[in-house]
Amino acid sequence: MAVKEYSYEKNGNDRLSPHFRVKEFRARRGGKLDGDRILISEELIEMLEKLSRAVRYKAIIVTDGYRTEAYDKQLTGKIGQHTKGLAADVWVDGYTAYELAAIAELLGFDGIGVINKRCIHLDVRGYKSYFVENSQIASDTYSVRTFLCPETYHKLVQKLFVLNDNTIEYLKKWKWSDLLFEKLTAGALA
Ligand SMILES: [Zn+2]
Repeated sequence: MAVKEYSYEKNGNDRLSPHFRVKEFRARRGGKLDGDRILISEELIEMLEKLSRAVRYKAIIVTDGYRTEAYDKQLTGKIGQHTKGLAADVWVDGYTAYELAAIAELLGFDGIGVINKRCIHLDVRGYKSYFVENSQIASDTYSVRTFLCPETYHKLVQKLFVLNDNTIEYLKKWKWSDLLFEKLTAGALA
């Protein structure tokens, strides 16, 4: 899928999908606009629409979308996925960062980063990568579960899907992440 180029001035109000407009991904530097150019991956928007469905269409707030290379380097010390239009930092009212990360993992996002208690980084870089900002936690083997004790993950899944223990046992037995993914994509959340 393609990464498309937009102009904030000309296309700012254009809809990318039912729940996202071009201007939400504008380049920012502090609180100000950082140039007119915006790059946005179609795949990223498709994945964010899946996330939107999974959180029952609660507003997904994009705090950072496209970034200019100069600003990304200043901010992070490198030129990352935001400069390619492949990433968005988001939060959703009522969800913690780990809850969103767990959902994002089930949906199949490539890069997932826990930025703080509420906000996560998501991208479609083409390979799996997981990190927790300002910590040593990073993984190529990649799983949100890797960084949570089984009980915590169990509780998280229970909260997200409103499942009872018997159902969870059943799901575990039968490749539960696949089944949860089906529930997510079917919009069958409780
Ligand atoms: Zn980010």
